[in-house]
Amino acid sequence: MKILLVEDSQNYLNEMKEILEDQDYEVVTATDGLKGLEALKDNTDLSLIISDLNMPNLDGLSMCRKIKSDNIPAPPIMMVTTEGSTELKRQGKEAGVRCWLIKPVVGKMLLSMVEKVIKN
Ligand SMILES: [Mg+2]
Repeated sequence: MKILLVEDSQNYLNEMKEILEDQDYEVVTATDGLKGLEALKDNTDLSLIISDLNMPNLDGLSMCRKIKSDNIPAPPIMMVTTEGSTELKRQGKEAGVRCWLIKPVVGKMLLSMVEKVIKN
């Protein structure tokens, strides 16, 4: 299964990519929301998007809103961020975010949520 990982922190991107690839997920990466949208259009066989919130050019929430408003075909979206306010989570839900995880996320937690969201 193929996952799009959108994250501007290179360390975090590499860490999550490794965790996912260890479980035989195929991982496509993008370093901001704009590149995430491009990757989404280039990869029509994605099972999941995992996105950071705070990123340059286009943040994760704006990317989700764009996907929704433009009716871009997309798999479920999981947000992984340091931000955890109720208001942001509410906005995320409204923009189509299926699951919201707070950093730092340990591998086990990430993988169990990935499985859960993909299976639903
Ligand atoms: Mg960031």
